[in-house]
Amino acid sequence: MKYDVIIIGAGPGGIYSAYELLQKNSGLKIAIFEEGTELESRHCPIDGDKIKSCIHCKTCSIMNGFGGAGAFSDGKYNITNDFGGTLYEYIGRDKALELMKYVDEINMKHGGEGTKMYSTSGTSFKKLCMQNRLTLLDASVRHLGTDINYVVLENLYAEMKDKIDFHFRTPVTRIESLDPGFRIHYGEETAEADQCIVSVGRSGSKWMEEVCKELGIETSSNRVDIGVRVEIPAEIFSHITDELYEGKIVYRTKKFEDRVRTFCMNPHGIVVNENTNGIVTVNGHSFEDQSKKTDNTNFALLVAKHFSEPFKDSNGYGESIARLSNMLGGGVIVQRFGDLERGRRSNQKRIDEGTVRPTLDATPGDLSLVLPKRILDGIIEMIYALDRIAPGMANDDTLLYGVEVKFYNMEVKLDHNLETRYPGLYIIGDGSGVTHSLSHASASGVYVADRILEKLS
Ligand SMILES: Cc1cc2nc3c(=O)[nH]c(=O)nc-3n(C[C@H](O)[C@H](O)[C@H](O)COP(=O)(O)OP(=O)(O)OC[C@H]3O[C@@H](n4cnc5c(N)ncnc54)[C@H](O)[C@@H]3O)c2cc1C
Repeated sequence: MKYDVIIIGAGPGGIYSAYELLQKNSGLKIAIFEEGTELESRHCPIDGDKIKSCIHCKTCSIMNGFGGAGAFSDGKYNITNDFGGTLYEYIGRDKALELMKYVDEINMKHGGEGTKMYSTSGTSFKKLCMQNRLTLLDASVRHLGTDINYVVLENLYAEMKDKIDFHFRTPVTRIESLDPGFRIHYGEETAEADQCIVSVGRSGSKWMEEVCKELGIETSSNRVDIGVRVEIPAEIFSHITDELYEGKIVYRTKKFEDRVRTFCMNPHGIVVNENTNGIVTVNGHSFEDQSKKTDNTNFALLVAKHFSEPFKDSNGYGESIARLSNMLGGGVIVQRFGDLERGRRSNQKRIDEGTVRPTLDATPGDLSLVLPKRILDGIIEMIYALDRIAPGMANDDTLLYGVEVKFYNMEVKLDHNLETRYPGLYIIGDGSGVTHSLSHASASGVYVADRILEKLS
């Protein structure tokens, strides 16, 4: 099979590149190869009743399939260069913001209209944070919510499905350079194209590494973020979440001068399991639908760990810590902050007696047996710093779920077009290491689509 453009991966990066290509040149022959399934066939078997924890399906419905890792996410599109990736380093700050806004317009046209856009500009929290050794990062946040995010994806798929060859349940195993063009291998079959966009996300990171090795494309990897997900009564953070929805707050610890940050805030949301390459970590969701809202707010507190030579496997380090929590707890561990401070494990009785009702059925345990001391010290320091701007944060009953790990894909060596040393081979989204978010991954998709359109015109 011969195509004009082959896209590997149907996450946000792949979807928005396909959408842009179709919008601007409907005559192009495009194929998308996706390891997972169509959106409507994506079902995680964990029902909280018969199946309570991850059974390690062959393909994870949460991470793989149309919509990628973002399909059941909270749908928070952060329009900012301050976090979510380093796309601006390749394409410039203005272009990156312009494309994130462009993606927002696409989302609004496909079911997102009416959802709220939050902004940090002009907020009084900036000053309050500064007065307490905290920094509030600047951003505009479009919050689609898990339900509307799903609708947007449904509408985008409906618009593209008859104009693009979608190959679901089709993991690509190899990319061969033909000079010019590329042959991709899947099962016993192959397909060819002169332009190939690879957008395989975090779940495709190991495969991406193999591809780069085989093709001699340079990579580097030195960062992983490790921490916990905090769950508190929604009222404690409501003055922040009502105004900003998500406050991205950074704290520099007194002890080690490490950076601890809040990540992925879900007002009135739920805590969920996340499966990355068979390792269960924790994450959070929230919903626009009033009936699905809970009494709790959750967010992660993460400490960035950068490694220097000769150590190269930062993700392996994060995985080992997550594996340790899986070993002790059979999955995610939950602990009351008061128990952590008293140096004792939480048990079911103490959790049940607490005032915060957990939204995830995790195993009560002791996070100090899992997290390195330096990381745990940083998290505890930040909880007390946050307590100064949101009193109640450091209550004994505050729940901490662990571990949350933010894996960073190795960074692939790319030029300012997000193109590898092979002309026509583009690597975008989280799989490139350049992005770590919906908005940046989507914008990178639009960006390479435009580069390809220029080339073909
Ligand atoms: C639970 C959860 C909540 C999140 N919430 C948010 C949020 O609110 N805001 C935010 O900005 N970000 C959020 N994120 C992160 C966000 O989802 C990702 O940054 C984004 O999806 C990256 O897009 P991508 O296209 O690069 O990769 P992905 O979305 O990971 O998509 C990659 C796709 O490629 C496919 N694939 C992998 N390997 C192959 C192969 N060899 N052959 C064929 N297909 C392959 C995968 O099946 C997958 O569908 C969340 C992530 C998770 C897991």
